[in-house]
Amino acid sequence: MLIVQKYGGSSVADATCIKRVAGIIAERYSEGHDLVVVLSAQGDTTDDLIEKAAELNPNPTRREMDVLLSTGEQISIALMAMALESMGLPVVTLTAWQVPIRTSSDYSAARIKKIETERLRNELDKRRIVIVAGFQGLNKNDDITTLGRGGSDTTAVALAAALHADLCQIFTDVEGVYSADPRKVKSARKLDEITYDEMLELASLGAQVLHNRSVELAKRYGVNLEVLSSFVRASGTIVKEVTKLETSKISGVAKDNNVARIAILGLRDEPGIAFKVFRVVSSAKINVDIILQSIGRESTKDISFTVPSADMDTAVKALEAQRDALGFASISADASVSKVSIVGAGMMSATGIATLMFEALYDAKVNISMISTSEIKISVLVNESDADRAIQAIHDKFFG
Ligand code: ADP
Ligand code: ASP
Ligand code: MG
Repeated sequence: MLIVQKYGGSSVADATCIKRVAGIIAERYSEGHDLVVVLSAQGDTTDDLIEKAAELNPNPTRREMDVLLSTGEQISIALMAMALESMGLPVVTLTAWQVPIRTSSDYSAARIKKIETERLRNELDKRRIVIVAGFQGLNKNDDITTLGRGGSDTTAVALAAALHADLCQIFTDVEGVYSADPRKVKSARKLDEITYDEMLELASLGAQVLHNRSVELAKRYGVNLEVLSSFVRASGTIVKEVTKLETSKISGVAKDNNVARIAILGLRDEPGIAFKVFRVVSSAKINVDIILQSIGRESTKDISFTVPSADMDTAVKALEAQRDALGFASISADASVSKVSIVGAGMMSATGIATLMFEALYDAKVNISMISTSEIKISVLVNESDADRAIQAIHDKFFG
């Protein structure tokens, strides 16, 4: 079998961890499998690099930021190769440009466009274990790019797709995908399997166990994906197209603190206002998520919406600049909100799921400020200080 394995930052945090992972790799290799191994930067390396940058420049260019952040993964692959060499195993490391992994131009949020497989195949044909630096790529100017935080998962799935690998295993510090973040909710359950669609929602709604783009790619190319622990030998979670029916109507609960709410009050109640407001926001290249429109006083209306926290100030500035054209009374912004969501394919055929969720929030005395739904998810916006309580209460309601 050809297996692509990815080990996250905590799985390669120090020499002990690297030796543990080298042991897993050696075992699979000795069983005769071809192995491509993708690594993340060790432990908090990426965060530390971001801090180092901030000490020198509050606004570094994204290009140089990517040159800096991509270094963490290069350290990991070299150290892992040395550990495997010391065990007498044939191994070769490849950074993104050596593969090469071609991406779009957007520094810090690049998307993988093409992976050349010739070099990889040559190395595998020589029965070498190929260790690839995750998270990084090369754009059309041959500049280094990175794929966004958590992007090594995407490197692994993209490699698995390009190589038509039999399996892509994402090794992390928990035993799989759980019904909630197992570090926050003690009663969280490990899921044996989850659909690509559900996993994509969970990942997009804040469950950082998989990079959402990796799930998108896995679905598109039908990659057999497994999430499991590098610390504990146990079966993990399989992410696939269709799963057997679970007893629970929902698969998981997720929280995203990275949201802010903007409220524009006293807009004229006339056709085209929503268009004009959101044209301003989208021109600033800002993604809008939940939108709420309500009736104001004296033929005015209010529009509230959420954006990523990092984009809040830019969005407010852009709207303020168009104040005369848009004609609103006031604008306010609040970053101390969280989005709490439930996800489950079973929702489509069940009734009363939303009611149960709202009842859990009522019991926990959590106020809801916005609601949004789709076929397989329900999200509510709550105060950030209530979010953990909300997650626990909702989880207890559905899984307790
Ligand atoms: P890695 O460094 O291996 O990429 P991450 O920190 O990116 O690991 O992702 C693993 C973490 O995701 C876990 O430690 C866990 O706290 C968090 N997590 C959040 N939601 C979930 C969930 N539903 N199931 C499993 N883990 C989750
Ligand atoms: N090292 C990168 C990060 O911390 C990529 C990853 O871990 O997947 O975001
Ligand atoms: Mg991760």
